[in-house]
Amino acid sequence: MHTTSLTQELVERFFRYVAISSQSDASNPVVPTSPGQRVLAELLADELRQIGAIDVVLDDYACLTARFPGTLPGPALGFCAHLDTVDVGLSPDIYPQLVRFSGQRIELGHGQVLDPRQYPVLEDYLGEDIICTDGSSVLGSDDKAALASIMTALSHLGEVEHRDIVLAFVPDEEIGLRGAKALDLTRFAVAGAYTVDCEGQSTIAYETFNAGQAIVEIAGVTAHPMSAKGVLVNPNLVAHDLISCFDRNQTPECTAGREGYIWVQGIDGNQARTIVTLNIRDHDKARYEERKTEILRAVAEIEKRHPRAQISCQIDDVYANIADALKPENQWVVQDLQAAVLTTGRPARPLVMRGGTDGSYLSTQGIPTPNIFTGGFNFHSVHEFLPVSEFYRSYRTIWALMTRQF
Ligand SMILES: [Zn+2]
Repeated sequence: MHTTSLTQELVERFFRYVAISSQSDASNPVVPTSPGQRVLAELLADELRQIGAIDVVLDDYACLTARFPGTLPGPALGFCAHLDTVDVGLSPDIYPQLVRFSGQRIELGHGQVLDPRQYPVLEDYLGEDIICTDGSSVLGSDDKAALASIMTALSHLGEVEHRDIVLAFVPDEEIGLRGAKALDLTRFAVAGAYTVDCEGQSTIAYETFNAGQAIVEIAGVTAHPMSAKGVLVNPNLVAHDLISCFDRNQTPECTAGREGYIWVQGIDGNQARTIVTLNIRDHDKARYEERKTEILRAVAEIEKRHPRAQISCQIDDVYANIADALKPENQWVVQDLQAAVLTTGRPARPLVMRGGTDGSYLSTQGIPTPNIFTGGFNFHSVHEFLPVSEFYRSYRTIWALMTRQF
């Protein structure tokens, strides 16, 4: 098929998918956390059936799985993308615009501009078509560009020889990978998989954080100031003492690359009770575990200093580094990906991700799952944009993986 009609199909699909608002809602404990995610999943399920998918299952969590039986030998290959867009306080409704980049700043609307002086990477797309926002929302190339690329590739498999392919489109990635965790993995029986959920030029990621969260709850002793001396235990000050135990140079704002941190994310307190929420991140598993121990030591120290405060500490692992799931026998998932990206005319750029993806969870479940670029930039921002040529490169990478044409 001709490139122009393929890029047209990509853009049409993208516009169709972003027209369904599907922002996730962290305040809703029920997955999917917003009705739009199910509406989008239903649309995708219909489209999958039309293009010949089998075993199309859409469950109560709005996790959608489907299969395209392979004509090439080899293990089944998974593709995963998420249905939700992120809530960063912007409108859940997305009105994308397709513009030709002339080199001048782009007036998005709502007082927002996309300025090449702020984002010099735009210069790489001079004279090209770019999809951007109307200034009121994110664009949702995270992750609907992925849905569009995967669906476009599947719709063209037809008679082309391809691998056994299994899909998982999951909700609520942006709020702690809740959809991936709700996925019944017996429906995603693959030897290796890819998420398509990364920004940047030909970026791939197979190193992510190990991530955990600690919740420290401090119960103090309340008293009226007239009789407080020697009686009152202020949980807010106990929390302050706890926080001051941690190294102020090992925070998100003071670290980069593979440096980990403890992030004091929240302090929620009153006279009786204070809850401190700590995010723990490190690429290195041993150092990640040390950070957990460091928190427990700090809590023990603070308990000694404030014997009348009651302190509890709950630490949970959230996701793990994909790299730890890569063994000699499954290195092919990364090698194939690098070869597939190369077919688009540029080598892959491996990124050490300071975050996690659905693949960080799937990898802990024995499915090594690196992450592929979507073609988008500036995720989680009104300045998010998607050059059509990068979108096409992402699609071509997926196509090469599915058909083993590399
Ligand atoms: Zn994403």
